[in-house]
Amino acid sequence: MSALQNNLSAIKERIHQAATACGRSAQDIKLLAVSKTFSAEDVRDAFSFGQKYFGENYVQEGVAKVLELKDLRSSIEWHFIGPIQSNKSKDVAENFDWVHSIDRIKIAQRFNDQRPSHLPPLEVCVQVNISDEMSKSGIQPDELVDICQKISAMPHLRLRGLMSIPEPTEDVQNQKKSHHHLRELLIKLQQSTVLDHQKLQLDTLSMGMSSDIEAAITEGSTMVRVGTAIFGKRTYL
Ligand SMILES: *Cc1c(COP(=O)(O)O)cnc(C)c1O
Repeated sequence: MSALQNNLSAIKERIHQAATACGRSAQDIKLLAVSKTFSAEDVRDAFSFGQKYFGENYVQEGVAKVLELKDLRSSIEWHFIGPIQSNKSKDVAENFDWVHSIDRIKIAQRFNDQRPSHLPPLEVCVQVNISDEMSKSGIQPDELVDICQKISAMPHLRLRGLMSIPEPTEDVQNQKKSHHHLRELLIKLQQSTVLDHQKLQLDTLSMGMSSDIEAAITEGSTMVRVGTAIFGKRTYL
């Protein structure tokens, strides 16, 4: 068995264990393989072992991989999970299926305008800044209802839920605290009377990475984003 194949089955086992331990079904947790800094061939290998959902952080690198793997385009779901600069939004709108990192209304509006009409609506999550001060990305919880209301009126976007990147910590209780907070924010949105729930499918909590998927799953994650534990350590250029 290759290391990659080994890693993939180990991470699936971790997901299964964590889900079972809290009475959830592993089938309700989607595994996103974060392939940033790894090659299109690595993605192809992972695909050959059954992995279908991939996450990318950098626009140029991600789009290059999507194009290089054109032959698999209809079988792979591509998720953009990195910071978005306005001048690169078009490449994302044209090449990805999901975006997790919507952090301002202006960028949502650009995606809506730039999403090609022959493609289904772009599936989006709003990135929330839950561990305040330190990280600058993500919107503040108190701005959430307003941005979600605006996004839900955009025909080429489909709002699916929330995403967060908490400050890294080894402490499992602290990991759980951040994830719990995000879950509560999603529940609040699901119950909000100002949103049009006929049109929304607020079912996604994108949280948990290589080192904290257990805590994330315990707190209700529906999509874990795993890089290192699948592809190995990254070397940045
Ligand atoms: C890199 C990255 C991941 C994966 O992190 P690992 O610790 O390698 O699993 C997940 N989410 C985001 C937003 C990332 O940038």
